[in-house]
Order: sequence, then structure tokens, then C-alpha cells
Amino acid sequence: MYQDELNRRHMEFLSTRVINMTESATIAMAQKARDLKAQGVDVISLSLGEPDFKTPEHIRKAAMEAIQSGEYFGYPPVPGYQDFREAIADKFKRENGIDCTAANILVSTGAKQSIANLMMAMLDPGDEVIVLSPYWVSYADIVKVTEGKPVFVKGSMEKNFKASAAQIEAAISPRTKMIIYSSPCNPTGEVFTRKEIESFVTMLQDYPTIYVVSDEIYEHINFTEDRVSIGSNPEMRDRVITINGVAKAFAMTGWRIGYMCAPEPIVKACSKIQSQSTSGANSIAQRAALAAITTDLAPTKAMAAEYLARRDLVYSWLQEIPGVKVLLPSGAFYFFPQVDYYFGKSWGSYQVNNANDLCLYLLQEAHVSLVSGDAFGSPECVRLSYAASREALKEALNRIKSALAKLS
Ligand code: PMP
Repeated sequence: MYQDELNRRHMEFLSTRVINMTESATIAMAQKARDLKAQGVDVISLSLGEPDFKTPEHIRKAAMEAIQSGEYFGYPPVPGYQDFREAIADKFKRENGIDCTAANILVSTGAKQSIANLMMAMLDPGDEVIVLSPYWVSYADIVKVTEGKPVFVKGSMEKNFKASAAQIEAAISPRTKMIIYSSPCNPTGEVFTRKEIESFVTMLQDYPTIYVVSDEIYEHINFTEDRVSIGSNPEMRDRVITINGVAKAFAMTGWRIGYMCAPEPIVKACSKIQSQSTSGANSIAQRAALAAITTDLAPTKAMAAEYLARRDLVYSWLQEIPGVKVLLPSGAFYFFPQVDYYFGKSWGSYQVNNANDLCLYLLQEAHVSLVSGDAFGSPECVRLSYAASREALKEALNRIKSALAKLS
């Protein structure tokens, strides 16, 4: 009782900032799945955006060598080791056609921190950020916590979830500071084509003060030939911030290394923020990430090939489920099916009124965890991650199908 009273008091002292923030829905759902697993339930978790592969051997070896050398136990430089920043600049030039040097690179503790640094460095209260929707969960909350205002521009399922240049232009106001999107997209798996990116560039010529934040963390899990980095366009060079990291391409989510490529003053501003929060990213992880981006991409390509095979399998299984509308994604490792056909239906004591209810129902009844589309700006959809083994995916899809069939 006394503890409850104390906890209530702590809650009263929390900042409005944190009270207004939503917890990451993907992490919350993964926790629910873990809790159920801890009770002995056989849960198949398709809620987290995390490769189910292990970090390739040569990258682990680089980390072990870094430890054994004894050279990397001190604080690393705030913006990242110089040779790593140079290697990242080379990578951007080589793989993305982005003209940059090490001075344009800032290494951070995950791409999430790269984005948080950027918003902290660039947004004043009330500044608007156009967030192409469906969007990655954290964009909206990072913008809000840095006192900016997210303005959502939604791409409908009929248009492959992609917003058009005209839609974006209609959302621009005098307060618009930047536009952010991911391509390949989390949660839809869609990839902006070269033509679509060019239409953004053409439209943005009339708005020379607006920056573009292009989150390309899924670039290597891309099943099209038609992907382009907007930062490679000479017209956009001075106002694109490209976000990337090693988490998805190299199965290194836990190593926590992300990076940005940006105009130098922005890199310096973000580095200043980082110097007063986390300092340089983990030294050993940086050495491992250096190996990841400078050596053989064969393991990355093999993982991407496996994601592609799973995508095709899951697509065929999803199509067999009545009422589920689904697109064939072009990249990343997600499906984002529309499931509102099931809203208003029930089974036993379960009443499904929205995607949150549906996810809870599927977790309890089918023991499969998905994430409600609410968190990504599309309350009529759910996100399914296929970063799981083919066997697990098959079993999960069977269970989902049976559980949905019970709803009437
Ligand atoms: N951007 C997108 C689109 C993501 O899906 C994720 C991870 N879920 C991140 C950024 C964050 O990556 P990191 O793990 O490097 O912080």
C-alpha cells in the first residue's frame, strides 16, 4: 500500500514530455510475447524488426581481435573513429553514389540515436516534420519529444502505401523543416522507385529550405533493381541527411551502431548533442561494424535471398486467408496486411473492434505476436515480420488462419 502511494507520487513528478510520449509499440508487443513465453506458452514472435540470423563470423572475429589488441578500451572520439568514418564515407560513395567525406559522417549508438540527435539538433518548438505514412514507429515520438510537430502524409494501400510529391507539397507550410521516410519502408516493405524519388526532387526545387531525411537502414534487403538514394542527386546534396546502420544488413541489432551522412554543420551540431548525452558509440562495436561495411557482402546477400524466399512463401499463405488484403513488398522483412474485415467480429468473450484487439486476440488465441498498424499510422493494418524461420512462419500463418476463421 505504502509502495503504491510512493509510486503515485513519482508519477506526479514525471515530465509532461515523457507523459506525452508513447512507448514503442513494437517493443511493448515483443515484451507481451516474452511474458507469455515465460509462462511456458509456445509463442511465435513476429513483432520485432530483428533479423533471426547471427552476426556473420568475420564480423565477430573483428570484434574479438579488437578486444585482444587492447587498443580499444578508452573513450572513442565522439563522432566515431576516423578510419570508420572514412570507410562509411567510402561506402556511401561506392554503394549509394553520395558524394561525401568523413567530415559528413557521424557514428551513433544505433540509427535510432542518429535520428534522435538530428531532431534535437534541428527542431525548435513547433517546427514541422512531414512524416510519410505508414511510418516507422519512432519517427513521430522522436519529433514530439524534441518539441517538433509531426505532420503525416499517408500513402493509401491502393497506391502501394506511397505518398506522392503532390500530397507532400499540399502538406508543406512555412514551418516545415524536413521530410522523413524509410525506403525500403518499415512497416510496408515498399521501396520508392527512381521515378518517384525524382518527382520528390522536382517538387522540392520550389522549397529550397526543406531537408529530406532518408532512412535507408533496409537498403540491403531490397528485392528491386530500382532503388536510389535521394542523397545521390546533385540538386539535393546539401539538404539530404541519409540514415543507415549495421543492424539489419549484418544481423547486428544488439551491437548498436548507426550512422548519418549530412552537411558538415549538421554533423557538428549532432556531434555536440551526442557529446553531452552518450559520447562516442561503443568502441568494440565500431571495430566490428568497420569490418562489416568493408568486407564481403556475401553473408548479407545470402540473408537477403532467404528473406526473399520467405516473402514469397508468406505472401502465398496470407493470400489464402479470407478478408486479408495484402501487397507483395519490395524490401525489408515485413508484411503490412489490411485486416479491418475482422473488425466488429467476435469469438467467445473476445470482441475485436480494431487492430489492437486483433493483435491481442491473436497473441492469446494463436500465440502469435504481430503489431497493430495503429503505431505506424494505419489502424486498419497489422505488421508481420518475417524475420523468422520458414517452419516458424508456416506454423504462425496456420495458427493465424485458424484463429481468424473463428471470428464471426
Ligand atoms: N529506422 C528504421 C526504419 C528501423 O526499422 C529501425 C529499427 N527497427 C531503425 C531505424 C533503428 O535502427 P537501430 O537498431 O540501428 O537503432
